[in-house]
Amino acid sequence: MPTIEPRKPIEANNATSLSEEMGGSRRTHGFQKAERKPSTLRVLLVEDDPSDSELILHAMRNGGFAVDHDVVQTAEEFTARIRKNSYDTILADYRLPGWNGMETVEILRHEGLDIPVVLVSGTLGEQKAVECIKQGAADYVLKDHLTRLPASVRRVIEEKRLRDENQRTQEELARSNCDLEQFAYVASHDLQEPLRMIATYTQLLAEKYQGKLDENADKYIHYAVDGALRLQILIRDLLAFSRVGRQGRNPQPNDCDTILRITMANLQARICESGARVMYEGLPTIVADSSELVQVFQNLIGNAVKFRGPAQPMIRITVKKSGKEWVFSVQDNGIGIAPEHAGTIFVIFKRLHTCAEYPGSGIGLSICKKIVEQNGGRIWVESTPGHGSTFRFTWPRSTRGAYDHSAKN
Ligand code: ADP
Repeated sequence: MPTIEPRKPIEANNATSLSEEMGGSRRTHGFQKAERKPSTLRVLLVEDDPSDSELILHAMRNGGFAVDHDVVQTAEEFTARIRKNSYDTILADYRLPGWNGMETVEILRHEGLDIPVVLVSGTLGEQKAVECIKQGAADYVLKDHLTRLPASVRRVIEEKRLRDENQRTQEELARSNCDLEQFAYVASHDLQEPLRMIATYTQLLAEKYQGKLDENADKYIHYAVDGALRLQILIRDLLAFSRVGRQGRNPQPNDCDTILRITMANLQARICESGARVMYEGLPTIVADSSELVQVFQNLIGNAVKFRGPAQPMIRITVKKSGKEWVFSVQDNGIGIAPEHAGTIFVIFKRLHTCAEYPGSGIGLSICKKIVEQNGGRIWVESTPGHGSTFRFTWPRSTRGAYDHSAKN
């Protein structure tokens, strides 16, 4: 069994790694890294032929790299090395005695390490090369084209740096979203009580002193009551938004006909007052948290009633299968939405009208979006101003086949 060769600094010691210099991150496995001069590239060669190793290193030096390298030949040696040391790249021969260079990709994945692997092979057919790239190799270079190697290594290291940067940005974004949601939750929750006091006492003032002071006093009290009530609605909706996904979900098979009946009962007063007709039939059974699903339908149907046109509001809810998803549609004959607003109305607090025109907080659609997306779906609107809107959202079809048969249309 071949032994692990000692670490061979080719050009220099005392350098930071290239990927570190380029801003990349890495896992060290507690390895005490040797001090190196700037821009030393740490390479792990997976190669059984010493003369090929020399050629590869020569090509790298000619391409402007200072290289600090180790050489391994077996999967065991490879695993031991990557656990102990950190590397900027792995240059692996494809055909090795007893294994092949692509297995390095598997081992790295298993170890949770992202180190670009460039296959350096004597022969690797076009088809095989494409397969290797698909399976996770960063690039491949033929041994009789080693002049290509430095450029290839530069590219894969830059790609790795961009991946690291992207991941860091995603993590920062997730953290800041989490902080914001926590803030919104605490603020909306804690504001409820003092706000209830303000609303109650301004209403009491209005009842007791209406007409007993001067005209201006009546006006001011009215503004105060109106503002307090609007703020109460805003805070209530903000709390509903920040609660989405926060409380334990209970996804169960839910018959959408039943969900719609609950929704209609909640909206009964508004539906009666507006004379709206809401039509639906043959809706499927889907796996969902029932209260979340009610919230989605309630916001969409509530909006369809609220943003009605001069004609009797007609609201139709339909569904169709599309691949692994259901596509639900809530169609109305209301005022419609201009195409330039189709994307923005799902953003929290975005409204296209004043409260005097149509009451609301601008939170309903963002709640729908949050619920739908947390369940793996998408939501969008198709509309022509003056000719109604159709809100569509997708919902994953149950993996349990029984529920797929329940759609009658
Ligand atoms: P709100 O209804 O409280 O204003 P939403 O988040 O539910 O807040 O909706 C955001 C905006 O999208 C609404 O203010 C309105 O301008 C527009 N909108 C939503 N649904 C409809 C609809 N069915 N028809 C026309 N416009 C709509």
